[in-house]
Amino acid sequence: MLKKKQTKFIFVTGGVLSGIGKGIFAASVGNILKNRGFSVNIQKLDPYLNIDAGTLNPGEHGEVFVTDDGAETDLDLGHYERFINTNLTRKSSIMSGQIFQAVFEDERKGKYLGKTVQVIPHLTQKIQEIVLDAAKGFDIHIAEIGGTIGDLEAVHFIEAIRQFKRRVESENVMYAHLVYLPYLDASKEIKTKPAQGSVRDLLGLGIHPDIIGARHDKPIEKNHLRKIALSADVGQEAVVPLPYVKKVYDVPANLEKVGLADYICKKLELKSTKPKKNGWEKFMENAAEAKGVIKVGLVAKYLANEDTYKSVNEALKSAFWAQKKNVKIVWIDSEELERKGVKLLKDLEGIVIPGGFGNRGTEGKIMAAEYARENNIPYLGLCLGMQIAVIEFARNILAWPSATSGEFDPNSKKQVIHIMPEQRKNMDEANYGATMRLGAYPCVLDKVSKSYKLYGKDKISERHRHRYEFNNDHREEFTNAGMLLAGLSPDHHLVEIIEIPAHKFFVASQFHPEFKSRPDIPHPLFLGFAEACLGKDTKNRKIDLLKIAAKGKERVGV
Ligand code: GLN
Repeated sequence: MLKKKQTKFIFVTGGVLSGIGKGIFAASVGNILKNRGFSVNIQKLDPYLNIDAGTLNPGEHGEVFVTDDGAETDLDLGHYERFINTNLTRKSSIMSGQIFQAVFEDERKGKYLGKTVQVIPHLTQKIQEIVLDAAKGFDIHIAEIGGTIGDLEAVHFIEAIRQFKRRVESENVMYAHLVYLPYLDASKEIKTKPAQGSVRDLLGLGIHPDIIGARHDKPIEKNHLRKIALSADVGQEAVVPLPYVKKVYDVPANLEKVGLADYICKKLELKSTKPKKNGWEKFMENAAEAKGVIKVGLVAKYLANEDTYKSVNEALKSAFWAQKKNVKIVWIDSEELERKGVKLLKDLEGIVIPGGFGNRGTEGKIMAAEYARENNIPYLGLCLGMQIAVIEFARNILAWPSATSGEFDPNSKKQVIHIMPEQRKNMDEANYGATMRLGAYPCVLDKVSKSYKLYGKDKISERHRHRYEFNNDHREEFTNAGMLLAGLSPDHHLVEIIEIPAHKFFVASQFHPEFKSRPDIPHPLFLGFAEACLGKDTKNRKIDLLKIAAKGKERVGV
């Protein structure tokens, strides 16, 4: 009988500091192994007691990334998908809350047969089952443990992965530990002591690392790596330097260069092939050769954390790199825009309004959409950005000054964006979260649209995360006034993309295209946007559409 394929496991932990790039490291290891021909899966195990990332504040935690199957996840999943070009599932995003919940449910169902329920073995076993389940069918499964070693709230994960080695045999498991090497300005030297201490903490919990990733911002010497290897009792090939890089996409090539893929293959007894040539190098080449900077405004409310719109940023960067240009993303606070006016938008080659929730700053976003439309400046609206574009069009072209979204004014009689009647019946307070449209939905494109040209096909699938929708009662008024409903759900019931064909590039989607953009395969809508930003058409910026506007009075009553 043929032996069942054995999945190999790599667990990634971190120490010394948080925020040293564990997610990028895990994703990069995935990238180089995938490039050796293996099927790779990546999973994040987060110590937070939340059930998922859906309710986390993006200002604090960064973007909520959405998978095809509708999971609201940590932004690290975005890195994983971008680096290994795979659509992950909810099994790749696990938070402690989910594990506790599963154990509590088992307890209530009487599954523990009268035993006391304990962190060890019940919680730890549950974690192992979740890891094994996610790994099914893959050659290599990488699991990143959130937080830093020594965090009390992550000990159940550490214990679970320690025991894991017994469960699947030692040649099938590797542990990678990321540490940071600080630089002391006064004595002008790199220090390895905190890294050694962190490895000791890991050893104290029973895990001997097979790989130590040494993050450093200042140049280090061989001797530093040697010191770490000696104190951790590992060979020198196990200590991988991770210098600061301007572009995170450089990390896989750096890891390949120091021989990490070969080392992993040897340790895990995997038959290694030579790295394949793939689109990644071309993309890196384009990025390296990029000349000139194009300024794109990102008009948003959350500005506390750059990571809030991580996938949007990455999608923009790769779309511009594909044309050998750099993009400078100018963060524009929509509330400041309300106060200071559209002069904040001058000098921009394009405007993006990304997703968002709530009323705050929306008037500023509407001002930005109006400015882009009137001045023929490329506009890309992403989810809320589409809703804003629809409201702006209603106010200024259809001359419905009170047009708004039910989200901004639930009592308004002029909701051009609203909760659909059939959604409303599920919308009691207790079940608010369940009313969200989440994950991949099909969409059919109108063949006359820009979107169709850009995608090169008429059936697409894109990811959603929103509650409100285009109000179908007004379709006719919008289309008569020059808006194209460029993408609809296959039953034609939901408006998924709007365009203004008379405009140079005015495209906005109810979905989030940024979640499916990959560095080496930029998303078609982002590519189209970048191309439009580059086609510098400064003459004839005012467009005729404006003339349709009969400002001042409401033309259609509701
Ligand atoms: N707040 C809007 C809605 O719920 C848009 C959401 C988003 O941009 N992701 O419909």
